[in-house]
Amino acid sequence: MQANFKAQLECMDCKQEYDINEIIFRCPRCNGLLDVRHNLNALKTYTSEYWKHLFDNRFRMEYPFSSGVWGKKEWVLPELKNHNIVSLGEGATPLVPLPQYAKELKLNELWIKQCGISHTGSFKDLGMTVLVSHVKQLIELGKPIKAISCASTGDTSAALAAYASFANIPVIIFLPQNKISLAQLIQPISNGAIVLSLETDFDGCMEIVQEVTLDKESGIYLANSMNPLRIEGQKTVGIEVIQQLRWNKPDWFIIPGGNLGNVSALVEGFVLLKETGIINSIPKVAVAQSSKANPLYRSYLNKFQTFEPVKAQTTLASAIQIGNPVSYKRAKRALEISNGVVEEASEDELANMAAYIDKMGMFLDPHTAVAMVALKKLKDKNIIKNNESVVIISTAHGLKFTEFKVNYHKNQLNEVQAKFKNEPILLPPDIKKVKEVIKQKLQL
Ligand SMILES: [Zn+2]
Repeated sequence: MQANFKAQLECMDCKQEYDINEIIFRCPRCNGLLDVRHNLNALKTYTSEYWKHLFDNRFRMEYPFSSGVWGKKEWVLPELKNHNIVSLGEGATPLVPLPQYAKELKLNELWIKQCGISHTGSFKDLGMTVLVSHVKQLIELGKPIKAISCASTGDTSAALAAYASFANIPVIIFLPQNKISLAQLIQPISNGAIVLSLETDFDGCMEIVQEVTLDKESGIYLANSMNPLRIEGQKTVGIEVIQQLRWNKPDWFIIPGGNLGNVSALVEGFVLLKETGIINSIPKVAVAQSSKANPLYRSYLNKFQTFEPVKAQTTLASAIQIGNPVSYKRAKRALEISNGVVEEASEDELANMAAYIDKMGMFLDPHTAVAMVALKKLKDKNIIKNNESVVIISTAHGLKFTEFKVNYHKNQLNEVQAKFKNEPILLPPDIKKVKEVIKQKLQL
């Protein structure tokens, strides 16, 4: 390819531009959030057919372009040298239909994008592959980086620890004590990360990690979603869904939202698809929040006129238990571009929804369940209409949340009345009794 594919940093607020290799996490001039901006004119010198063909040819073929992220490298981080790509086979995840539930809701189609079927079990792999690859290149360029660090509600630290360890770069993880699942805790520990467990919540960890990484002398690079490179990888998810629908777009995407980088990323991907002529309009997007941590929902209710951080309360949807989301401004912009909406789910609603959908062969993590509740509510409100098509972004694998599942089926979750609990039936090894129970259960 001859065109001048290029990406640089740009401040969301004052529009100041910076070189992509500068180590900054906010605008040094006005403290605004930064975006990665691509040279759209260069991308547009190729036709939509060219891009579709290129991406289809690479999909799941030949490492590292088999990755859902690096198969679209020109749209992600074009100037990254191929030998600096740090890929664990992220993306290219299944898009699975849910025909039973689609029929029940009178939808034309309902799909679930299984981002949790990935190396560390969550969609965070999509952003982390880009960030760690970029850091590898920065180190090669002689930048004084000694370690990468993040604060996390669980999935981010698991992804960072895996990718950085794979690239042989030290990692420091800040976790809120006793607020993440066992699976999430054991991942960075296994990968050899320095794990600092602080007696605070996610927002408290985030404040500390920002202080630590602000000190330029520290040589510690910040990996949180404030860092726009993460968004470059995450934005491939929407592009990939549309690719899997043979380059057709659904009416709606629904995505759970905590720190709100993911919704911004989703819409960034759609914008590129539109700019390159692959789609002619942006699909609508709904963000789903836990009602225990719903600052975006509250802001949406007053038409984004104000934004007040909240003190996030304990929720089963622990990865989105965030009261002061870093990417609020990005999310607001994304919802404006996509004509989007925001919905919320209670503990009882999300836990019962997860169990209900699990009965159809799924294994929903609590955050995906929040998105599924949002679908039901938006359909009931007729915001999502009969015969529309919907894609739910499933952000993590349900196996990361087995405590949630086990406690649900014992009906031991706070504020939850388990309507679909399914306990094992204890029986002696007696063929007669076993046959009786089977007969009764199958109503024979
Ligand atoms: Zn600025």
